[in-house]
Amino acid sequence: MPTQKTWKTLVNEVVLRLPKTFSLADVTARKEYFQRHYPDNRFIEAKIRQSLQVLRDQGTLKFLGGGRYQSIDTQPKFSPLLDPRTAAAYTNRTQIGRVMLETWAEINLFCVNCAADSLRRLPANTPVADFACNSCHDNYQLKAKDGRFASIIPGAAYAPTIKAVREGRMPEYVLVEYDPRFDTVVFVDAIPGRFITADRVKARNKLGATARRAGWQGCNIDVSKLPRARIVEPAGLERSAVRADWRRINES
Ligand SMILES: [Zn+2]
Repeated sequence: MPTQKTWKTLVNEVVLRLPKTFSLADVTARKEYFQRHYPDNRFIEAKIRQSLQVLRDQGTLKFLGGGRYQSIDTQPKFSPLLDPRTAAAYTNRTQIGRVMLETWAEINLFCVNCAADSLRRLPANTPVADFACNSCHDNYQLKAKDGRFASIIPGAAYAPTIKAVREGRMPEYVLVEYDPRFDTVVFVDAIPGRFITADRVKARNKLGATARRAGWQGCNIDVSKLPRARIVEPAGLERSAVRADWRRINES
């Protein structure tokens, strides 16, 4: 199955082939390359500009002004901040949360299984998985909560989940805990999918006839005592900076 590259990936691929300092025109000149991947998109230049901004926000690109850019050879810069602007088109709280977190994940998550620095978002209707690695083809399921997760987390639809477990295709589970007061990600852990065995997957009741997705059956997953790798945690401030601050307060 051919995979759809994101605009950010496409623009980054073009940028990597350009001299260190380049102009917007250098990127838009590769219009046919973008058209091959997104033949129906009529807003190619807008998408290019948007992607250049994402690359700048990640710290891989510098805006020099006057439509000139400079690429920086560094690791993408991590940010715990969720950007509400990415969900400006939505009014439903659940949707806003989902869109903000997916956008955050697309910019900040990386493959824990290989050296790939980003993950590709899978189409919305992909069963069981949300993201995939382009290099090692590992799959990821993103779960987010405004607060701390309990030891039982909500899974995807029951039937495809239990099927994935039985076929040894469970994606890695990434648990994102965020604080909606500050629109910021607090803790992020990854649990290897192969540790989620069938006895940990419990079917939930089917949704009632009046529900929007009547008859749909989800599942709960017991993740208690499973090993996890920490991806994000709140960092304390540098001690010397705190002590300097403390002295400054007390001297004033
Ligand atoms: Zn990978």
